[in-house]
Amino acid sequence: MLKKEQLYEGKAKKVYRTDNPDLYWIEYKDDATAFNGLKKGTIANKGELNNLISAYFFRLLAENGIESHFVEEKSEREMVVKSLQIIPVEVVVRNIAAGSLAKRLGLEEGTVMSRTVVENYYKSDELGDPLINSDHIRALNLATPEQMADIRAIALKVNEILRAHLAERELDLIDFKLEFGLHNGQLLLGDEISPDTCRFWDKNTKEKLDKDRFRRDLGNVEEAYKEVYRRLTGR
Ligand code: UDP
Repeated sequence: MLKKEQLYEGKAKKVYRTDNPDLYWIEYKDDATAFNGLKKGTIANKGELNNLISAYFFRLLAENGIESHFVEEKSEREMVVKSLQIIPVEVVVRNIAAGSLAKRLGLEEGTVMSRTVVENYYKSDELGDPLINSDHIRALNLATPEQMADIRAIALKVNEILRAHLAERELDLIDFKLEFGLHNGQLLLGDEISPDTCRFWDKNTKEKLDKDRFRRDLGNVEEAYKEVYRRLTGR
């Protein structure tokens, strides 16, 4: 397979065409942004770590019956994926209050939710990804109710698989964001699953091992991403 011209450059990844119209070639970057692009920086080796961690999670999910766009790794920081028409709804699953949920609902960070919360955000940089509900999704024609029902069920299943797997590695899964898309009409999980898009806390010390270290200037950002990789793979 051949890597062809760049189609798109996002905040954390570049997307290239390949000689197969069904497949894209993704390159993960070290660039980091937060607060809708207001804070910019780089995290050494983030591209590699997020590529390897995402590949690891997509494989784990495939073994558990969840299909994603992931096809194969191409290098330390590159993977090949199935081409997706992205559904512009970001799906956030939350087990423990943190970040915007803690703020919005006046909860202390670390409060265990009595049940899992699923939220939808409109994927729009100009608008800063506003929180939306199922009526907004229908009114804006972002996805069909059937697609949203499938997406919710998959997101909750992903939560159970990841939560159990991470618990065995002494990590709490606080919350995470998923994106979905259509590949020749088939709904697939897309984007990435990494410390950029999840919150992971050490089960015992509650130390943050995710992008909050960058967002909140906590230091040791690269070390935190490496620690997640090490807990998953032993490497
Ligand atoms: N998240 C993400 N991309 C976004 C917004 C959030 O990957 O554009 C992830 C974030 O890393 C966290 C979860 O979604 O794991 C919930 O984020 P939250 O709404 O608390 O927003 P934040 O505090 O990150 O701005």
